[in-house]
Amino acid sequence: MRSPAKINLGLSVGPPRPDGFHPLATIYQAVALYDDVTAVVRDDDSSVSVEVVGDFANDVPTDETNLAVRAAQLLQAEYDVEEGVDLTIRKTIPVAGGMAGGSTDAAATLVACNRLWGLQLSQSELQHIAAELGSDVPFCLVGHTALGRGRGEQVTEVMSRGTFHWVFAIADGGLSTPSVYRELDRLRPLRRVETPQVRPELLSALLSGQPGALAVALSNDLQKAALSLRPELGDTLQFGLDKGALAAQVSGSGPTCLFLAADSRSAVDLAVELAESGLCRMVRQAEGPVPGARILPAPVNR
Ligand code: ATP
Repeated sequence: MRSPAKINLGLSVGPPRPDGFHPLATIYQAVALYDDVTAVVRDDDSSVSVEVVGDFANDVPTDETNLAVRAAQLLQAEYDVEEGVDLTIRKTIPVAGGMAGGSTDAAATLVACNRLWGLQLSQSELQHIAAELGSDVPFCLVGHTALGRGRGEQVTEVMSRGTFHWVFAIADGGLSTPSVYRELDRLRPLRRVETPQVRPELLSALLSGQPGALAVALSNDLQKAALSLRPELGDTLQFGLDKGALAAQVSGSGPTCLFLAADSRSAVDLAVELAESGLCRMVRQAEGPVPGARILPAPVNR
């Protein structure tokens, strides 16, 4: 399975609901930065195991708190599955970086187990289970570019033309999403917070396929809170702009910073500058949009 990271091109956050969740209006885009999830069926017992390898393996739990394990166990519970599964996640997406790494592993696990266990669940049944696992999981199933409403779990595809070129500056350490929302509530007077809305200019920029138009339409209500908790991210954003990025923004709840480049060549130049700056732990480049979690053909043995 190959499952992509997500970015939020627009993220508008309303006042907290009585259940504590913040209503959102967000435009998600799936980008070509992937975790690979391998799933092997266990027909001798119903246990679910996970092994994590790759760039960020040490930051990911391998017990029942792993979102991929929870996804498999939720399917087992809801559909009386008696088989188990051994999962291996090759982690390339930064952990706690505001790029939905855990959510996309969960989405990949749902698709894989649906196939392995012969459940034949429809896309809308999978979407329903995905929403129980987390706000970003339904989007990770569909990918491409989509509007997210509610907690972000109600997704509708949005038209987008062409390919955009992104560079990501991955910071040391993560930022917990709940703490960023708490900081947002602390920083802004709630009586002034309005119903979340997607900016119309963002939708028309996506339709135009013009990076220049997209650059001026990006927005993220969580950025102020992420910068309040990690002020040094402001230097990273400014550095990228000084080096030619068309736009710079914190990704979701951060601390990953994303930069929009004019084309693939400018993206390479910007990635090199950022990598040499010492401002971040690592730099990645990826284009978007790309499809959501999908099964890769098995490698052919020659
Ligand atoms: P989002 O953008 O959806 O808010 P995020 O990208 O900021 O999420 P994740 O990478 O999903 O954050 O990780 C959040 C926490 O979830 C991590 O600190 C980690 O301990 C835990 N976690 C559980 N399962 C996974 C997984 N499969 N991959 C990454 N983190 C996981």
